[in-house]
This record gives sequence, structure tokens and C-alpha cells, in this order.
Amino acid sequence: MAELILQPGKERAVMRRHPWIFEGAVAHLKGRARAGDTVDVLADNGRPLGRAAFSPHSQIRARMWSFDPEETIDHAFFKRRVAAAVAARAALPELREQQGLRLVHGESDGLPGVIADRYGDTLVLQLNSAGAEKWRDALADALLQASGCRRVFERSDADVRGLEGLEARTGPLRGEDRDGPDEIVIEEHGIRLAVDIRGGHKTGFYLDQRENRLLVRRLAAGRKVLNCFCYTGGFSLQALAGGAAQVLSIDSSGPALAGARRNLALNPQLDAARAEWRDADVFEELRALKKAGARFDLIVLDPPKFAPSAAHADRAARAYKDINLLGFRLLNPGGLLMSYSCSGGIGLELFQKIVAGAASDAGAEARILRRLSAAPDHPVALTFPEGEYLKGLLCQAV
Ligand code: SAH
Repeated sequence: MAELILQPGKERAVMRRHPWIFEGAVAHLKGRARAGDTVDVLADNGRPLGRAAFSPHSQIRARMWSFDPEETIDHAFFKRRVAAAVAARAALPELREQQGLRLVHGESDGLPGVIADRYGDTLVLQLNSAGAEKWRDALADALLQASGCRRVFERSDADVRGLEGLEARTGPLRGEDRDGPDEIVIEEHGIRLAVDIRGGHKTGFYLDQRENRLLVRRLAAGRKVLNCFCYTGGFSLQALAGGAAQVLSIDSSGPALAGARRNLALNPQLDAARAEWRDADVFEELRALKKAGARFDLIVLDPPKFAPSAAHADRAARAYKDINLLGFRLLNPGGLLMSYSCSGGIGLELFQKIVAGAASDAGAEARILRRLSAAPDHPVALTFPEGEYLKGLLCQAV
């Protein structure tokens, strides 16, 4: 096995169990390794630190599989890690009953680059690193076994694959029902939702917002709700279920809105007359609503990742500021603004500053009622704070 020797001092992060080894931390590679191969990681003084997947095309040159230098990285290793991740969810009663559930959340489950979401009895697998790519078969087999799912569908088409030198790859991978349906209906807090595992965003749905959608349901009664960046209507339908007086939802994607309408139709118990879907750019539409004198009691802002990395932070900060400012201007007195950022490049502290600046510029006085994050099937390893990508604030205007 090839050996990856670190620069002096660069062993410290690995010893604290941070899973990423950046290009600049590497002194040299002793021996030959191709993309995805397992390498021994050693400190400058020769001390063994563990085993990692080598990634020659990425700035993250290696991702740690194990911090035990003796642990063999083989099929049995992936079986153990996957089984542990599945068991961790099963141990939480609130997660056990979910039909849509993240079973493997990458680095925080000890499986860098591996995402696995279950929708009913279909498992959707997303491989985002050279190491994960190398172990596709072992992961698919382990997941099929540990989850009890009937099939595995691959959605390895995230942008980050490009940084790893990997092409997109999607399609059926395992199971009796290899060519099963692309659309799977799951139930979330009593609402039926169709998930398009082939063409939908991420693995088909934004499972990370599950608990926050329940919070919207609890807050919605009697309120005029505005849901910006609504995708397939997850927040909108929970608002209707919670008794919202009216729900206006905006997205600029035709397929997303078609999915939202379909989801509403799957729930005949909801009062469809209270829902309006608008195909528009949120930045423009919020200005138009302001001009028209519209006002809302509960506004959800859940935009796409404006800053995939810290390099985009400045432009992203302006975009967040803009929509939050408009959001505050559209709030009735006492109204609630639920605002999110899923940008890895914008930390919680910066996000809160941006929202505070937006409120101030809007002439609004507001308070934070809750800090929000991803649901517990998207855990954050204490050794991997980068895993905390989703942050939200629930603010109340005075
Ligand atoms: N809140 C959703 C997820 C939102 S994902 C949920 O809980 O499921 C972000 C959405 O923003 C996507 O559906 C995308 O189509 C939409 N979007 C991106 N840029 C936009 C823009 N400028 N105006 C309107 N919608 C936009």
C-alpha cells in the first residue's frame, strides 16, 4: 500500500480526527496510488495515523476512512460502517418511523463522500468522492442488507464530482426491482409527497428540512404564508395542514412547481383553494409584492446554496441580505421570518450578521425565537464542523 506522508505539524488535525487532508498538508506520496485507492497516512516522523482514500484531482487530497492504522479497508469495513449508521437512526424513535430518511451522511457517519437516503423501500445512493466511487459495489451491497430496502438507485450527479475528476452517473444499481418507478410517494408528518429519484434535486427531496417543515405547520394557523424557493411544496403543504389562511409559494423551476401541484393533489384533505403557486424569480417577485402593498404573517426563505465555498461568500452575502431585507419589509407587525442558508461558505455567525443587517436596513425590529438546523438524520460529527451546512433563524418582527 502506498504511503501518504504529511508535512510537519499537519498530523495534528488528523489526530483530532478531522477526516480531510488538503493538498498543502501532504509532503509526498511514497509508492503508487490511483484515484480512490487506499493509502496509509503517516506523520512526518513516521507515526502511522490511519488509512485514507487517495484523490489525486481534488484539493482534498485524501479522506480518512479509519483513524486506526491497523484497520483493513475492505467489504467488511463498509458493512460495519453502514450498519452502524443505520443502527444510529433506528435508535432514535422520531426517526424510526420516517419513510424518507437519510441513512448515511458522509463524513459525519465515518463514510466521506457517501450519501444514502431511503424513500420507502428504495435506497438512493450518491457518491461524491474518488474513494466512495471505488467502493460503489461494497456500499450498495451493505446498504441493501442493512436497510432492508428492495433496491438501490444511484444519483451520483452532484457538481462536486467534477472536483474529484468523476463523471456523473445515475441509474438503477441493485435489487429485484432494478427498473422500479422513478416516482416514490412518501409520507411526512401525515402529508403525502412524491419524490422523483431520477430527476429531483439532490437525491430527490430535501430531507434535511423535515423538522423545520413540522415547525411551520405548528406556526401556520390563521396566518398568511409566503414560501419562497418552494421546490415541490414541502413547507407549503405543511402550512396548509397547519391551518394557514393562505399560502403563496414561489419558485423559478417549472418541474419543481409541477411537482408541488402534484403533491397538493396527493393530499385531498388540504384546502387547495388556499394555495397559490407562482413561477417567478424570488428576487424580482418580492420587489413586485412590496410594490403591490402585499403583507404576510409568516415568510419562509429557503434559497439554494448561494456560496458553495468560502470563495463565493461575498456575492452570496449580498444575495442573502437582499432577500432577507425584502422579507422583513413584507412582514406584518408581529410576523415571523424563517430564513435559511445551506451554504458551506457562510457560517452561522456571518449568517446572523447578514440577517441582522437586513432587518436594520428594512427598518424592522426583530428578535430570534429559534436557531434551526438540519434534522438529526443529518448529524454533525464534533470533529467535522464543516458538516453543519444548514443554518436557519426564526425571527419575529416587533
Ligand atoms: N424549501 C424546499 C427546498 C428549496 S431548494 C423544500 O423544503 O423542499 C431551492 C429552490 O429554489 C429550488 O426549487 C430552485 O428551483 C429554486 N430557485 C433557485 N433560484 C431561484 C430564484 N432566483 N427564484 C426562485 N426560485 C429559485
